[in-house]
Amino acid sequence: MGHDPNHVVKHRIVVLGAGYAGAGAAGRLARRLHPGNTEITLVNAEPDFVERVRMHQLAVGQDLKPRPLADMFEGTGVRLRLTRVSSVDVDRNTVTVLDSDGADEIEYDTLVYALGSVWNDHGVPGAAERAYEIASRPGALRLRERLARANAGQTVTVIGGGLTGLEAAAEIAEARPDLNVALATAGDLGDRFSPKAQEHLSKVFAGLGVTVHEHAEVARVEDGAVVTLDGREIPSAVTVWTAGFAVHPIAVATPMETTGTGQIIVDGTMRSISHPDVYAVGDAGYAMGDTGEPLRMSCASGTPMAWQAADAIAARLTGGKCPHVPLRYFNQCISLGRKEGLIQYVTANDRALSFSLRGRIAARYKELVCKAAAWGVANPTLGMPVRRKRIALEAASARTTSAAAIKRRTVVDRTATGPNTSSGRSRRVRR
Ligand SMILES: Cc1cc2nc3c(=O)[nH]c(=O)nc-3n(C[C@H](O)[C@H](O)[C@H](O)COP(=O)(O)OP(=O)(O)OC[C@H]3O[C@@H](n4cnc5c(N)ncnc54)[C@H](O)[C@@H]3O)c2cc1C
Repeated sequence: MGHDPNHVVKHRIVVLGAGYAGAGAAGRLARRLHPGNTEITLVNAEPDFVERVRMHQLAVGQDLKPRPLADMFEGTGVRLRLTRVSSVDVDRNTVTVLDSDGADEIEYDTLVYALGSVWNDHGVPGAAERAYEIASRPGALRLRERLARANAGQTVTVIGGGLTGLEAAAEIAEARPDLNVALATAGDLGDRFSPKAQEHLSKVFAGLGVTVHEHAEVARVEDGAVVTLDGREIPSAVTVWTAGFAVHPIAVATPMETTGTGQIIVDGTMRSISHPDVYAVGDAGYAMGDTGEPLRMSCASGTPMAWQAADAIAARLTGGKCPHVPLRYFNQCISLGRKEGLIQYVTANDRALSFSLRGRIAARYKELVCKAAAWGVANPTLGMPVRRKRIALEAASARTTSAAAIKRRTVVDRTATGPNTSSGRSRRVRR
């Protein structure tokens, strides 16, 4: 076959996962890079964008706005591939996907790994078989169906006193005042908040009739009860598990540097410290914030991580200066049902300050934050000026060079990008 002079070699960026982080990164990349010599493919298992931050609302019977990814990305130049990722080969730069048509491979030059997380039962006996989870849409729908069948007077026990557990307990108690809602937490109720915020939380929970079991670390989940480490038996017709998230095992099955919990360890630009063609954002990535402490799994972390990765990729491919997106916290936004809320202002490293917003205004604020997060994802190329740059010729033709040469080039690039770039040292995970 003769050489086609019109054939343009494109740099293939493949984004895995269209949650807050992946969809955010894909949209931002589409704003930054010219489609003339880049190709952005977004791979997601489900056809819709799932607002995970509203799964407790879905579980109590509220209907969420459908957000088809095809509509969201229409006209952006991002190619959508609806299929399930089963593995990643970081030596061959390929992703294996599996759908009803069988297995297929997608090749990449740059990979953005954003597969998010699932619930984490921490191996507690009985949890996987008997508890309900709200970390995923199928999980929330399963709980919704179970709550619809729950009889007045039955006890629903939420396990976990973190933000998700607080939101879930309040939402269920408000939607179903006929049920006995309880919350079991390993520490004190709201111990991460300022005294005033903690007091407000206790008041709201008392008003909603939520029974709080403090210092109640759950050792096992039984039929009709949960049993704590210190032997207390808490009645529970329906047990809702919210005690943490776990990442998919896909990354840990690769030679990439991951934490003990399977998150991909990245530098300050969200680039894998071991495999420079790979970036990881959102719950799947393990990154340090500006204060040098690890970011927690949340949208609050995932969104700036996505922006940082997209801007770093665009800068590296176009030969620009690698920018720094602030990776810090401002507040924790908690809904306590539809009428109450709590906005706890925090330090850059997520520690409670004395100031908080409480009550109806906080509920409205939280609603606005959720809407803004979904709006940002649903309008991936709106809201900031388009500066689509063509990528440097060398980067575009990278795939025609050998894999070793690509790795050499990116390693050199990585060491030359200044203070945002990690020295490559390994870090410990905090959840
Ligand atoms: C009830 C609840 C309330 C929350 N409230 C807040 C809050 O108020 N504030 C906050 O900051 N955080 C909150 N969080 C946490 C937040 O939702 C997550 O941290 C956030 O969704 C992580 O974003 P992500 O893009 O990394 O992952 P996800 O949002 O989980 O997205 C991952 C995407 O990857 C896709 N995917 C997964 N596996 C595969 C596969 N094998 N193949 C193809 N596609 C795949 C999924 O379908 C999904 O679209 C809450 C979580 C829950 C469950």
